[in-house]
Amino acid sequence: MASVSIEDVTKIYEDSDEGRILAVDGVSLNIEDGEFVTIVGPSGSGKSTLLRMVAGLEDITDGTMRIGDRVINDVQPQDRGVAMVFQNYALYPHMTARKNMSYGLKLTSDLSDDEVAERVQEAAEMMGIEDQLDKKPGSLSGGQQQRVATGRAIVRDPEVFLFDEPLSNLDAKLRVHMRTELQRIQEELGTTSIYVTHDQEEAMTMSDRIVVLDAGQIQQVGTPDEIYNEPVNLFVADFVGSPSMNTFDVKLDGNTLVGDAFEYTLSNEYVERVKEYASEGEPLVLGIRPENIVLTDDPSENTIQAHLDVREPVGSDNYLYLTMGDDECRVRVPGDVKPEEGTDVTIRFDESNLHLFREKTGRNVLADIEQASQASASGANSVATAED
Ligand code: ADP
Repeated sequence: MASVSIEDVTKIYEDSDEGRILAVDGVSLNIEDGEFVTIVGPSGSGKSTLLRMVAGLEDITDGTMRIGDRVINDVQPQDRGVAMVFQNYALYPHMTARKNMSYGLKLTSDLSDDEVAERVQEAAEMMGIEDQLDKKPGSLSGGQQQRVATGRAIVRDPEVFLFDEPLSNLDAKLRVHMRTELQRIQEELGTTSIYVTHDQEEAMTMSDRIVVLDAGQIQQVGTPDEIYNEPVNLFVADFVGSPSMNTFDVKLDGNTLVGDAFEYTLSNEYVERVKEYASEGEPLVLGIRPENIVLTDDPSENTIQAHLDVREPVGSDNYLYLTMGDDECRVRVPGDVKPEEGTDVTIRFDESNLHLFREKTGRNVLADIEQASQASASGANSVATAED
């Protein structure tokens, strides 16, 4: 087991048609020994490229990568102490599951046949595939193939597991089951893991920390709770959460956030806190998550009148699609809250759940304040976030 350190790493592909493609742009990240870190981001954001550079499957254009204390930039993939699990499993079709799991280990280690067999047996038991070892991939289900591929990574006893969208090819139910299983294995083995996915829900449920990537740059690194509740910018706020965060264009006028279709009065403390960073009249974006809005019968201060267009039942909850003037708003309420479609409703949300972003930079005002106070405390700007 080991830590992974990624220091100002950049990857530029030279493409014959498209020229230079900046796939990863100055990424710095420290992953602790035994940590489970997920890299999320939209398609093309550089997730796989970053992972493949750790694996040694892509050259690094610039920067330094370390596993433990060892710089691995020029170390061959098989000598890095990493094992990778791919989306398409990458199993040899003509080999049994047992052979698939043992083959690489035999090639790259000097373990005896008995030791290799023992490791395969142990990993198979861990993955619950002891009975499938003599079958070839063609006669295994997707879930079983995925278990063989993971088992193959386990037998190598790597310092770092690298997962590249390993669950994407499974159906929804199995995917949820396999999440828990992979987490259990990782906890049992305590192996440092880097997990790439485009599925924010997967990232939220599995990780110690999440790295949100966009256009090759880190947007935010944090625990699932931090990423969800304290998004540093509009990109992260929008990417994480389903349905996504509601956003409204507003301006600060005294203590009041003035939007197109509503006004929201902030407390003196809140205004005091943000006023240096959100000046009067500056275009701001107010963000509020659908589950942080409640329906109320009491049209007192800070309530907003809206029209309920559609009520959509989704199991235990109802999604409400509202309009307020030209603004649209999504609300998530418990399943027993069932206002009539086509009627007017009153909504309310608390200041503590409100997010305020600067329209120009997309940055969360509170994150800017936090960054400034950290910078002044440490004498340097040490927060790994996107540039203004
Ligand atoms: P993600 O995994 O987030 O979908 P990738 O790391 O696959 O993103 O890709 C990041 C960017 O690099 C994209 O613009 C993609 O088109 C480009 N890219 C990836 N692999 C190659 C390659 N082998 N040659 C040229 N461009 C590539």
